[in-house]
Amino acid sequence: MPHIALHAEQTRAVQVRNIFCIGRNYAAHIAELGNRPEEDPVVFIKPTSALHPPGTPIALPAHSSDVHYEAELVLLVGQGGKNIAEDQALKHIAGYGLGLDLTARDLQTKAKQGGLPWAVAKGFDCAATVTQFVPADKIEQPHNIEFQMHLNGQIRQHGDVRKMLFPIPFIVRYLSEVFTLQEGDLIFTGTPEGVGALKNGDQVRLVLPGLIDTEFKVS
Ligand code: ZN
Repeated sequence: MPHIALHAEQTRAVQVRNIFCIGRNYAAHIAELGNRPEEDPVVFIKPTSALHPPGTPIALPAHSSDVHYEAELVLLVGQGGKNIAEDQALKHIAGYGLGLDLTARDLQTKAKQGGLPWAVAKGFDCAATVTQFVPADKIEQPHNIEFQMHLNGQIRQHGDVRKMLFPIPFIVRYLSEVFTLQEGDLIFTGTPEGVGALKNGDQVRLVLPGLIDTEFKVS
């Protein structure tokens, strides 16, 4: 089973269980893809084989010619649970990281047109690329943070968690009503606007100011 590091210096290995992803959580990103906002969050799942921690380059999959980056805040579930109330939600989060919900946009567009699932568009190796995780007690106000994604030295995405259509407590409550959340689950919380294609040789940098600054090469 794949593991991730909970902290850069004092590394604790956490075994990753389910990888949940929220789609369409920022209005400006919904608009850039020509989608409509949903009443309930769009939820999809990635296999744990898609998990890619820092240290090795991102390998783009051979089955797509248009792989997009989607930089996202990622939650690491600590104590699991079912039917978690929104006012208890933050107690179930052990850490925060950043991630790339890599998406084969060509295959996803085709799947959307056919009303078909997204597994091959969203679940390939490296599709759940993540930074190290910061322990939750280091972030007092997770609803109040911002993050950036740089591509080859230029800022391409700026995430402002205050702009989430479905905020973190809502996501935890909503997921826990459908699925039993387990220690080690990851939750990708959706991408802001600015998504685009990756190519071999690119350098991606994910920054949560003062807490995370991680680079990934695309090989
Ligand atoms: Zn996404």
